[in-house]
Amino acid sequence: MGQRSVSNSFWRGRVRAPKTLPQIPKTRRGVWLIIVIGGAVPKLPPRDAFVAVLSSGSRGNCAYVGDGRSGVLIDCGPSTKQILKRMNDVGLGDAPIDAVLVTHEHGDHAGAARVLCNRLKKDTGRDVPFFMTQGTAQALKSAMVPSCLETIAAGRAFRVGGLVVDPFSIPHDTADPVAFRVGIGQRWVGVITDLGRPTTLVSQKLASLSVAVLEFNHDVEMLLDGPYAWSVKQRIRSSHGHLSNAQSAAMLAESVGPHLEHLILAHLSGENNSPERALQEAAMALHSAGAANRVTLHLATQDTPLEPLGVGGAYN
Ligand SMILES: [Zn+2]
Ligand SMILES: [Zn+2]
Repeated sequence: MGQRSVSNSFWRGRVRAPKTLPQIPKTRRGVWLIIVIGGAVPKLPPRDAFVAVLSSGSRGNCAYVGDGRSGVLIDCGPSTKQILKRMNDVGLGDAPIDAVLVTHEHGDHAGAARVLCNRLKKDTGRDVPFFMTQGTAQALKSAMVPSCLETIAAGRAFRVGGLVVDPFSIPHDTADPVAFRVGIGQRWVGVITDLGRPTTLVSQKLASLSVAVLEFNHDVEMLLDGPYAWSVKQRIRSSHGHLSNAQSAAMLAESVGPHLEHLILAHLSGENNSPERALQEAAMALHSAGAANRVTLHLATQDTPLEPLGVGGAYN
């Protein structure tokens, strides 16, 4: 990968026409990766705004959100090499990384923090801040602690370039976990994974989103019948574990907002879920909410990055 531009002017000049938009199913990515419900055709965005889930699942989570001028990574679970390779693979090799937002200290979300921080400093010649709560920073294994760590607090939004970052609390078995929504123009993009139960706060944030990356971790039946030890099953099902398909679908049915254009199912368990079950539950939830005709459903996976999704409409 080449040097990242400090000024981003190179990237700004290269913001491409949305040739990757709208999302078109690609057979090499599997026919179930992208489902267009009700024949809805995503609108082309008047300005560039990208969301790319680079990796999703218990072996590493990372997503890129940006508008072509500013950009952030949300979580850095995969290796630095994988994160940068996947950005390159989906056409974001020169996209600016102005900050990395870390949701919590689990290795599948923070594993590369230290190495990635050093690599970004080398590539850009500056410190790229890694934002996380005080609790997450204190709980992070020393091998993961980035040299450019900055602490934040849930409920206190802040700016990264032209983006607004809004961290909010989620219930998970870590010190002080948050999810993030990122404001671009009039729209919000949110990544909501690793929570044991829906909460009123999460539902409110979900209702505001134009693009939602939402956990559909497990199918309860498959989890209970599956190979995990009982204690692990209990941890996953607990109110500080992970959302089941049914929990996410129920929250979605109640909280899908008027702006939602893309729903990306995320953090699926490889052992205790199937893409078909998750997609079916999500599709039924969108249908019951009367949103099936306007929301495009996608599935994020562990091994293959999703190409950037554009969000059309009110980017001013
Ligand atoms: Zn996780
Ligand atoms: Zn976790």
